[in-house]
Amino acid sequence: ASTSATTPARPAPAERRIPPVLGSDLEVPVRGGRLIPYANLDYAASAPCLEPVSAAVTAALPAYSSVHRGAGYASQLTTARYEQARHTVRAFAGARPDDSVIFTRNTTDATNLLARSLPEGTTAVVFDTEHHASLLPWGTAVRLAIPAFPGEAVRAADEALAGIDGPKLLVVTAASNVTGELWPIAALAHIAHRHGARILVDAAQLVPHRRLNLTALDLDYVVFSGHKLYAPFGTGALIGRSDWLAEAEPYLKGGGAVKTVNDDETEWHDDPETRHEAGTPNVLGAVALAAACDALTATGWTVLLREEERLLSRLRDGITAVRGVHELSLWGPDHPRVGIVSFVVEGFTAREVAEVLSGDYGIGVRDGKFCAHPFVRHLLGTADGGCDDVTASAVRASIGIGTTEEHVDRLITALQDLVSRG
Ligand code: PLP
Repeated sequence: ASTSATTPARPAPAERRIPPVLGSDLEVPVRGGRLIPYANLDYAASAPCLEPVSAAVTAALPAYSSVHRGAGYASQLTTARYEQARHTVRAFAGARPDDSVIFTRNTTDATNLLARSLPEGTTAVVFDTEHHASLLPWGTAVRLAIPAFPGEAVRAADEALAGIDGPKLLVVTAASNVTGELWPIAALAHIAHRHGARILVDAAQLVPHRRLNLTALDLDYVVFSGHKLYAPFGTGALIGRSDWLAEAEPYLKGGGAVKTVNDDETEWHDDPETRHEAGTPNVLGAVALAAACDALTATGWTVLLREEERLLSRLRDGITAVRGVHELSLWGPDHPRVGIVSFVVEGFTAREVAEVLSGDYGIGVRDGKFCAHPFVRHLLGTADGGCDDVTASAVRASIGIGTTEEHVDRLITALQDLVSRG
């Protein structure tokens, strides 16, 4: 039926609003003592706090007490908030109902917890591209050379896993903290399972940018950090299969993890979430992490991705157009990536670039080797790479919620100025 001219048009569904971040009005001193608005392009290190996260923490502050062990109102409320946070994080990660969701301090802590929980004789298989948090915690590890294309990563994992007897764990990062490039984690999970191995995915740089669905991807374990996901410091999570974790020595030994203590016997809880979370947990951190998960889910990944793609294209097109600026990339400029761009500027060390960006333009970026020494060395084609080796360092700009066109354009202009000055 045709709509009469007098029928009011139905309003288009409201575009879901991207929540604001704290600190977007921050001003920072630059050379000459002037204050200018801060351009935070360092999200991959730690993302700013979302307003709904701050509101959730503020709401939890007036009444808190120890979880799981008190009949008092504040204790019950705190326990409910903590367990609700676990439930939210489980849903955010798309975990299976029988997976464990263990709160940790951060990704590094979560990876180390899993490393300590592996069955006797487990071999980890890990690429040289990994962040040190995923590269270093393993007792016995096979290190794989950096693959020249995604299919080679799958082939190398296939070959390595085929040659290992006993329990094995493939460790891989979903989105590189150096180049932002996405790894073929579904294909790697498939290969791991074909060899009877399990897979751990470091999702620290994925979850701020893309939906994670552990069940759909058939992953065994994932780890990530709250502070890269728009919540403040101090909380991360290990999520995944419960059996190894239920058998392992408790990660921390102390109250909460233990069922009974007698003179000659200590009985630990079997449930991994209790067994590995001894001591008073970071409840406010868990509340913050869950609020961030809720806020991203409520905004919707389509909206978030559209905005990120728009700004990332502007950033990448802009900086690669500057003469003498070279973007780092493992699998080529067209390979899909999250909002992270690392680059070098001919004639300048990464530290010099970062200092000029901060001191003259009020722009915050990261410089160095990003806790991924073998990978950065490979990308730069340098042999050394000790921490003070300025030739083996790059600059990293990273974006997220709260990044504006002005921030991106300011970086491009600053690089143009720097290069023309140089
Ligand atoms: N994994 C990746 C890919 C990262 O980017 C980082 C942090 O930079 C980590 C692990 C370690 O995270 P955290 O310092 O929160 O433990």
